Amino acid sequence: SRDLERRLQETSQEVNQLRSNLEKVREEAMTDALTGIANRKRFDESMRKSRREADLTGSPFSLVLCDIDHFKSVNDRYGHGVGDRVIKLVASTLEDACTAQFVGRWGGEEFIVIMPSSDIATVIKRLNQARQTLADTKFKLRETDEPMGLISFSGGVALAVGGKQANVTALQQADKALYRAKDEGRNCILSA
Ligand code: GH3
Ligand code: MG
Ligand code: MG
Repeated sequence: SRDLERRLQETSQEVNQLRSNLEKVREEAMTDALTGIANRKRFDESMRKSRREADLTGSPFSLVLCDIDHFKSVNDRYGHGVGDRVIKLVASTLEDACTAQFVGRWGGEEFIVIMPSSDIATVIKRLNQARQTLADTKFKLRETDEPMGLISFSGGVALAVGGKQANVTALQQADKALYRAKDEGRNCILSA
C-alpha cells in the first residue's frame, strides 16, 4: 500500500508537470516569437471575446491596423537584423501607448489593436501618442551611431460590431483606411 501511495504521488506530480508544460506551449503558440507580443492566433481568440461582448452589450468596439512606413528601405539600408529591431521597437511603443488594450502582430511589419471603445477620436489619440513617441526619438544605429531618420507608422481605424461577418467588414474597412493614410503621405491615423 505504501508503494502504491508513492506511485500515486509520482503520477500526480507527472500530471502537474504535463499540465504546466501544456500551458507553456499554449502560451508560446499564442505569442509572436520576434516581438513577444500577441500573434494572430491570440488575436482570433481576443476578437471572439470582443465580438461576444459586443453582441451582449450592443456597443461596437474599435479595430486598428498599423503598418510601418517605408520599412523596406530600413531593411535595404541597414539589413534585416536592424529591421527586426525596428519591428520590436514599434511593437513595444504600441503596447506602451495602448496599455490594457489588445496589441498583436498581424504579420510582417503590421500590427493590430483592439480597443473596447467606440469613440474613434479617443482611439486615434492613443495611436497618435505612439506615433509621437517614435517621432520624438532620434534613433541612431547601435553599431555606428549613424542617425536613422524618422521611424513612423500609419494606421486605419474601423468600428466593429457583433457578428462574424460584421468583423470581416471591419477589418476590410480598417485596411482601406490604412491605405488612405499611406496615400495621404503616411505617418498618420485615419478612420474608415
Ligand atoms: P509602406 O510605407 O507603403 O508600408 O512601405 P513599406 O516599405 O513598409 O512596404 P511593405 O509594407 O510592402 O514592406 C514590408 C516589408 O517588410 C517587406 C518585407 O521584406 C519586410 N518584412 C516582413 N517581415 C519582416 C520581418 O520579420 N523582419 C524584417 N526585417 N523584415 C520583414
Ligand atoms: Mg506592410
Ligand atoms: Mg509598411
